[in-house]
Amino acid sequence: MTRLLTTLIRFSRRAGLLRRRSVGMLAVAGISLWGIVDLVQHPAQVDAVEVAAGNVAIADPWQGASFPVENFQAYTSPFGYRQDPYSGGQRFHYGLDLAAPSGSYVRNWWGGQVIEVSDNSSCGTSIVVRSGDWRHIYCHMHGHVVQENGRRYMQDSHGGLRIVEGQRLPAGARIGRVGMTGRTTGPHLHWGLKYRGSWVDPALVLQAMYRSQRAALQSPN
Ligand SMILES: [Zn+2]
Repeated sequence: MTRLLTTLIRFSRRAGLLRRRSVGMLAVAGISLWGIVDLVQHPAQVDAVEVAAGNVAIADPWQGASFPVENFQAYTSPFGYRQDPYSGGQRFHYGLDLAAPSGSYVRNWWGGQVIEVSDNSSCGTSIVVRSGDWRHIYCHMHGHVVQENGRRYMQDSHGGLRIVEGQRLPAGARIGRVGMTGRTTGPHLHWGLKYRGSWVDPALVLQAMYRSQRAALQSPN
């Protein structure tokens, strides 16, 4: 872990990315994003980070994260500028598109609280989950929003799902199904991630999860 972090910082400095992309780089390192982001932005304090990383409980937080969709087929659109499928112009794409057959279950990436359900934007039927400083959004799902007794639900009867604003969800919970609501040309999950208000490339997070989970398989215990 120590070597990984040192390599990370050296790489980040060389690439001139430390500030702008510190979250993404951290994600690649597979270390806790919750407590040490500030420390990594000030490399002089790296020793303190190394001590913290020795704590088994927080050393490898990515192992609890869930891949966000079942029956995954392909990454159909990356995070970043792309040709807009509707207007033809260049537009920034604030998420990662994961194609899966319509009806495939979407899974909650990280344990947290549902802070919004919606069905009236280009994102279609969607939910937003808050996990600490993170927000994760899931778009284009089946179902619709229902209001009842002052509460708002995302209702997907065929999928057997009812997600209520304010409820807590564990990582890996089924929270919706891949559909085509909102602005989309085919069934896929649009998955967006924000850290402290800034969009993050979900592909970097998936890479960190892969590295962490692969390392766990190779560890002697
Ligand atoms: Zn998308």
